Amino acid sequence: MARSAFSLGGLGSGFANNEDELRTLAHHGLSHSDQLIIDKSLKDWKEVEYEVVESVQWTFDHIGDPEDIRSDGELMHLADFMARRELDLVINLPMRGGSRRVSSFTTHGYRTRRLAVDYAVPLVTDVKCAKLLVQAMHLCGGVPVMKTHTDCMTSRNIIKLPGFIDVHVHVREPGATYKEDFASCTAAALAGGITMICAMPNTNPPVIDRASYDYASALAGVSARCDYALFMGASSSNFDTVSEVAPQAAALKMYLNQTFSTLTLDDMTIWQKHLQNWPKKMPVCAHAEREKTGAVILMASLLDRPIHICHVARKEEILIIKSAKERGLKVTCEVCPHHLFLSTSDIDDIGQGRAEVRPVLFSPEDQAELWKNIDIIDVFATDHAPHSVQEKNSEKPPPGFPGLETILPLLLNAVHEGRLTLEDLINKFHRNPRKIFNLPEQPNTYVEVDMDYEWTIPQAMEFSKSKWTPFAGMQV
Ligand SMILES: [Zn+2]
Repeated sequence: MARSAFSLGGLGSGFANNEDELRTLAHHGLSHSDQLIIDKSLKDWKEVEYEVVESVQWTFDHIGDPEDIRSDGELMHLADFMARRELDLVINLPMRGGSRRVSSFTTHGYRTRRLAVDYAVPLVTDVKCAKLLVQAMHLCGGVPVMKTHTDCMTSRNIIKLPGFIDVHVHVREPGATYKEDFASCTAAALAGGITMICAMPNTNPPVIDRASYDYASALAGVSARCDYALFMGASSSNFDTVSEVAPQAAALKMYLNQTFSTLTLDDMTIWQKHLQNWPKKMPVCAHAEREKTGAVILMASLLDRPIHICHVARKEEILIIKSAKERGLKVTCEVCPHHLFLSTSDIDDIGQGRAEVRPVLFSPEDQAELWKNIDIIDVFATDHAPHSVQEKNSEKPPPGFPGLETILPLLLNAVHEGRLTLEDLINKFHRNPRKIFNLPEQPNTYVEVDMDYEWTIPQAMEFSKSKWTPFAGMQV
């Protein structure tokens, strides 16, 4: 007799009377399942539903007691299986005809459910057709995708969060689609719980006028998988024209320091023209490190317009923003996960070349200062800046880290450790970005997170083309 495992209604099973028939039967059976049980005779044959079956001792009262004769080692207690995490799933079948006893907490079923809950083993109850469930799970492989609002009720600690907004993303399209493009970048965003991105303008060609905006916008329209807005770049010559595109743009980006861009503005009179001409209701974002932080805040406040400081990383920068806010100046700022969770003390682990990023990684003291002033920080943003592994390992590695797929786990870990509250997370990664950048609401858009799920960040994340991450090995 041959029976194929994980198949319904005897699919692929049957009797064979000679070798030829057995071959045919086995061939047929294996087309329905990976595993086949072959039994020579039906003498002493007991029906066993699935091929991997280990008996469990159904005593509960003397668990773990070596003196107890029932712990004779032949059969493991159910509790031992659970404690050793050797059961991945408990499926509890309802009693035929429903629960007959009022005191059903004395039943094996009740105790098994209780143990599953106590040992955090996933538990499915009230299944009408367990065979079908098992086969469906076998077919879909791994953990099934759950939508808690439609599929099931679960005792896992799943919380619903708003779709997150990342206001600082380098998509690399147009110009360097081997590093990233709208399709891969937005896939990475969604995988990271981010449902809207603002794309930076330092592409090739850079997005600095109507024509380049239309070009980038058309590319995004074809392949983006989540909502997006595009930044306009401030160049040393477009201060009179760039504001024409303001109504469609996420914001104006000014690069005041040398970075991975052709848009660096050295001349302060040009800053002034941009700050003056860009509509006051629309945000201006500045890459402004060290003394330039204070300078651009001051110039913006002289012109009575709001300014948003990108990726604040140094103690001196967060402190100057703090005092500007105390004086009521219209300044907002963002901080990136790599400055919150990495410092110069991680450079050896990451590798000198790969650790190149702008602003660079700073001392643990700077890092601690960001956490100390977490209330000053308005926005969390990734500054997702993907490059190929080959480039990052090269003699002259370009600066930048990928970050879309790791920011939320890292921040949630900080929530778990008590360094942030969920309210902080929602404010700085959803509400404030929306408010500062005048972004539209995304109706019926949310992220579900299993708050008990722990994992280690791998060497590379799944969706970004940048196949490495500076956070590899971190437990979240
Ligand atoms: Zn950037």
